[in-house]
Amino acid sequence: MPTTPQWRHYHELRPDELAVLRDENPVAFWPLGLLEHHGWHLPVGFDGIKAERLCIRIAERTGGGILPVMWWGTGGGHDAFLWTHYQPPEAVAAMLTTTVEQLIAFDFRVIVLMAGHYPWQGILDDCLPAIQNAHKDITLLWGTEASIGGDAVPLPGDHAAKEETSYGLALFPELVDMDALMPGRNEAAAWPAGRMPPEGERHPGVVFEAHDPLFAQFGEDARQGSAERGEAGLSKLEDYLAGVIREAIKA
Ligand SMILES: [Zn+2]
Repeated sequence: MPTTPQWRHYHELRPDELAVLRDENPVAFWPLGLLEHHGWHLPVGFDGIKAERLCIRIAERTGGGILPVMWWGTGGGHDAFLWTHYQPPEAVAAMLTTTVEQLIAFDFRVIVLMAGHYPWQGILDDCLPAIQNAHKDITLLWGTEASIGGDAVPLPGDHAAKEETSYGLALFPELVDMDALMPGRNEAAAWPAGRMPPEGERHPGVVFEAHDPLFAQFGEDARQGSAERGEAGLSKLEDYLAGVIREAIKA
């Protein structure tokens, strides 16, 4: 009789429990996020929460350990926004490669780097091919929800707009407040030290007017998002990745 795959939060386990988990399902998931303004309606940890919830859904079907969310990330068009923490890219890249090499040394066979923040893609693409080449027996899967399914499951993405809002409504509606998308907020209060960046320093496509309900968004109007829309894409991705991981464990 097949046993139910077990997944656990890596950091909650004692050494004996970690050894059992790894021996039964040598899969490590690492959700990669950051803290960044995600519009009036979404939490600042949106990207990491999205990545973690998606990892949990996949791990429910494959088993494995889920590492604590990597909250320190880098890059994007929201550096000037209040509540955004971007870190030096070289620091982020060093933590990424060090941790992946440690997981390989600890005998995980499949390592899933699930990035909720899209600029992670460039760092992953820079750092991971060399590690993969050095460890051909390990399966490294990396990307954002928009890219990790490759051509098999391409999902749309944006920033805090229609697509990400749909993912949030599907994965953690309890942390989304669509009523917060209201007009007429105070401009100065929305910026660190009351300073809105001058026009030349604004990322193209991002809404910089705090009085606009779509403040900080990049993409189509978040108010067009829905849980159904998010779920349609995420459930396909979950099916696909669970299949890929199960095959990789067997190999
Ligand atoms: Zn995001």
